[in-house]
Amino acid sequence: MGLLTTGRPLIWWDSLPHLNYIREHGIEQFVNVFIATHDRQGDVLKWGDEIEYTILNVNEEERRAYLSLRAPEIILELQREEEQATQAPVTTLQQRLTRDDDEGHDDEHPVVEVPETLWRPEYANWMVEGTPGVPYSCYMRDLVLVEQNMALRRAQIRHVLRPGERVLSLTAYPLLGCGRFSEPSGRGVCGPVARSLYLPDAVINPHPRFGTLTRNIRLRRGHPVAIHVPLYHDLKTPSQIPIWEGGTRHGGVVEVDSRQTSEELDRLTSKAGGQLASAANTRPTPSEGLVWLRSQPEDKVEKERISLTWIDGHEPVMQYDAQQDGARHLCETAGLADLNDRHHDGKCTSPDIYMDAMGFGMGLCCLQITLQAANMDEGRYLYDQLAVLAPVMLALTAATPALRGFLANTDVRWNIISASVDDRTPLESNHECPPNSRYSSIDCFISNRPEMKAHLYNDRPVLIHERSYERLIEAGVDERLARHVAHLFVRDPLVIFDDFASVDDRESLTHFENLQSTNWNTVRFKPPAQTGANTSAGWRTEFRPMELQITDFENAAFTVFMVLLSRCILAFGMNLYIPISKIDENLAKAHQRDAVLQGKFWFRKHIFAREAELSCSVQCHYRCACGAEHCISFQSQHTGSPTRSDLSPSRSCPFRFCTDPDPEAMELMTIDEIMNGKPCCEKHAFRKAYPGLVTLVRAYLDAMPGLDQATRTRLSAYLDFVSARASGRLLTFAAWMRQFIMNHASYQQDSRVTPEACYDLLQHCIELAEGRRSEPALLGEFWPKHHIQKNLTSHEFSKLRSQIHEEDSPQLRGE
Ligand code: ADP
Ligand code: MG
Ligand code: MG
Ligand code: MG
Ligand code: MG
Repeated sequence: MGLLTTGRPLIWWDSLPHLNYIREHGIEQFVNVFIATHDRQGDVLKWGDEIEYTILNVNEEERRAYLSLRAPEIILELQREEEQATQAPVTTLQQRLTRDDDEGHDDEHPVVEVPETLWRPEYANWMVEGTPGVPYSCYMRDLVLVEQNMALRRAQIRHVLRPGERVLSLTAYPLLGCGRFSEPSGRGVCGPVARSLYLPDAVINPHPRFGTLTRNIRLRRGHPVAIHVPLYHDLKTPSQIPIWEGGTRHGGVVEVDSRQTSEELDRLTSKAGGQLASAANTRPTPSEGLVWLRSQPEDKVEKERISLTWIDGHEPVMQYDAQQDGARHLCETAGLADLNDRHHDGKCTSPDIYMDAMGFGMGLCCLQITLQAANMDEGRYLYDQLAVLAPVMLALTAATPALRGFLANTDVRWNIISASVDDRTPLESNHECPPNSRYSSIDCFISNRPEMKAHLYNDRPVLIHERSYERLIEAGVDERLARHVAHLFVRDPLVIFDDFASVDDRESLTHFENLQSTNWNTVRFKPPAQTGANTSAGWRTEFRPMELQITDFENAAFTVFMVLLSRCILAFGMNLYIPISKIDENLAKAHQRDAVLQGKFWFRKHIFAREAELSCSVQCHYRCACGAEHCISFQSQHTGSPTRSDLSPSRSCPFRFCTDPDPEAMELMTIDEIMNGKPCCEKHAFRKAYPGLVTLVRAYLDAMPGLDQATRTRLSAYLDFVSARASGRLLTFAAWMRQFIMNHASYQQDSRVTPEACYDLLQHCIELAEGRRSEPALLGEFWPKHHIQKNLTSHEFSKLRSQIHEEDSPQLRGE
């Protein structure tokens, strides 16, 4: 999750005097990089993926699958292994990154001077983030390393797991926040950091950045975050869920009275979900911020009465009293007033799945891809284009059907994370033009190319930090980029370390990254790094919306598809612009259950910016529903990859003649249409047909000369798979998981995910991931038939990698 610094983090109110210092210096740092690198040219394509893995602890005797909170230890071990394997500290990475690619390799003794995988901590203690050790290059054959490197990462994690522990690439663990959901249980909710009713602070990664971020978001906002996810309604689903209840493990109300001993209370509360850390009349020390359960004074003892008070220091922060319907009190003091407002009966129930902590969002795992651009202009164009694709790819990779023990009426994670880090004050949220949450789609396009018609596409008001904007303009940053950066800088820096003033603005991007890395958008524009391990990196664009799939095959397929599509966009001069407001609509639609089948998304009818430059040599056929057959064609005259300059104009290319009176025309398309093409219109007019993104990527591959058959076959399998998911022939993971839960013997048609179903589901997923099981509805014929070496060592991978930079491998090129 971005930047990790050392030093002591400041609590919110102590950081207030320094907010502007960080902003000012962040802008200076960006300006310095901009001046040094804005006309940097000719960076070759480098790219890499990030996968956030989930560590489980499976108890086969109990038949329960818990989250393991051992990820920080596991990461340390992985990093140790990584250093041992390379017998060199990670500092050599820099040498590797700056070195020429054609330096000699010896097949017998491959140069193992770099780790083949890198490991980073993430927000939650069950998460491990892994990336390839070195970014992939522009060689086509690197594309077949992706799945192999993902398999290597999985194997390396498995190697350091203890008995009972398992690794999954899983976006959302369905029982998060339900009673005992982790191992160890991390008892004690309402901790001082998150103040959550469900998640103990023990789930937060111990790096000070994460806890501080959590606490400071809550403090800036004024109360705990509130996440509401629509509940899926089945036959017996209650219309209201007690907010105390999560799944079946969580008992809800605890019936106690003051005559019970603390041991009894402890036993009772733990039976009800193990949620309370300390019992009657034990006073917490403020520094520990323990949870305190206070029973009624002796004279007020009534049977069946409950009164629980959570104390922060000496202040009661929330209280629940079953008999007096103390929910109102709870809601007011805990800042859950919005729940109360909607339910004037004061009952502490919610019609949706209510969650109250950053961990519910930032604990969700995803797949990200970073692409280096040839120059700043290309990176900016790609940023815009990928932003349009984000909702589509989010819906297509949907993997989040169940949360806090309930089936949701949505399939993806985005809005959950968005609400989980929403630091806006009530004043900001109620503003007539409220800023988005820090975790959101983008608010403005940034390219300066003529395709980017600002008056049409940048149709949302964009708040900017004016002083930052003025400084950027003064330093020579163009208006559009200045707006983008000044928009990032309307946020307050959330985590300031006490050594903040020691940073040298000429050398570091620390303060810039402070804001950049806490604006979590669907795409991110990364400036060249000036120092650190990655000094050679150029302008990069990161694609961030995709959810995780269970197998390496699927994750590799989506990764490779996106990389190839990014090349198509550049090579074919594609233009996907639609207004920002339409992207917002698409993102909302991407959340709908089964959006892949049901959703219709705004998309351009005409996606070629410079149609005249396409030509006919390679032909892609597709058949219209009306029976007419059409083809799209591309040509490459050189040995390189197809590029626009290679393509000679030809009258036979149908895209050359866009006679639509409105070249900006958009229409609502299904994901199937967007990906696999839209048949011609009723009039059979081919020029109005839309070819589909997968079709275009196929054409790009077909036009690629000198690509060996094995690579071609592998890549085609990825494209076939992506196409099958888009068409609905294969289920999304979200749809499959929902079906699994609802078909489980323990399911009561009440939308609850039982621990039994969760256990069987995750065991099933583990077997799938390890290739021990097939699942035709989800994976078709692609897995596990599709062979990858499962237990490759890092050394063997290095050897594989060193063999591929052969001259004969064609290059992925953009423009
Ligand atoms: P963040 O979490 O900030 O997005 P990470 O370091 O976790 O950053 O991941 C960055 C990704 O970018 C990795 O997949 C890495 O392989 C890849 N990468 C590294 N260097 C480059 C580069 N020069 N160009 C493109 N991608 C790169
Ligand atoms: Mg991450
Ligand atoms: Mg990362
Ligand atoms: Mg990150
Ligand atoms: Mg990232």
